[in-house]
Amino acid sequence: MSSSPLLDRFIDALQCLPGIGRKSAQRIAFQLLQRDRERALKLADAIREAMDHIGHCSRCRTFSETALCRICDSSKRDASLLCVVENPLDVSAIGQSSDYQGLFFVLMGHLSPIDGITPAKLGMDTLKERFAEGEIKEMIVATGTTMEGEATAHYLKELAAEFDIVVSRIAYGIPVGGELEYVDSSTLSLALSSRREY
Ligand code: ZN
Repeated sequence: MSSSPLLDRFIDALQCLPGIGRKSAQRIAFQLLQRDRERALKLADAIREAMDHIGHCSRCRTFSETALCRICDSSKRDASLLCVVENPLDVSAIGQSSDYQGLFFVLMGHLSPIDGITPAKLGMDTLKERFAEGEIKEMIVATGTTMEGEATAHYLKELAAEFDIVVSRIAYGIPVGGELEYVDSSTLSLALSSRREY
C-alpha cells in the first residue's frame, strides 16, 4: 500500500503489461508522475483509442480499425498467394524481412485442444470459404515449429486438400520448437524463400 489510493490503482493497472511485476510497475508509475506526465497522458489516449477502435480484419483476421486491413485492401498484392501465420506479429516480421507480396491469413493462435482452441476458434471455416473462392493457388504455411504449430500446419494441409491449392511450408533455418516472432529477419527471409511443398 502506498500513500495514495489512486497511485495503488495505477500500479495495479500497470501490472497487466507483459513482464511487468509490482516493482517495475512502481518504478514506471513514479517515473511517469515525476517526469513524463504529458507523454503518459498521450499513452493513455492511445491505449483508449486502440481498445475502442481496433478490431479484426474481416478477411485475414489481423488487427485492423477498418473492416478490411491495409494489406487485404491493397490491389498491389498477389491474391493467388496466401501465407498463414499464427499471429499479427508474424505478419510484421515477414513484411519487414522479405519481399513477400502475397496476402495473409492470421489464425490468432494455434490448435491446442487442451486449452479449448479448436479449428473454429482459429477461423478455419473462414479460411475454407476463401479456398472455395478459387483465387488462392498457393498456401504457405508459416506456423511455428512447436508441436502445436506443426499440428496446426497438418490441419491446414488437410483443409486445403480438397481444393486445387499447392501447399508449402516454410522450412530453412526455423529452429525446431521455435516461435516465428523470435526468429531474426534474415533467417525468416531465407525460410520463406526456401519453402518446400508440404
Ligand atoms: Zn486483412
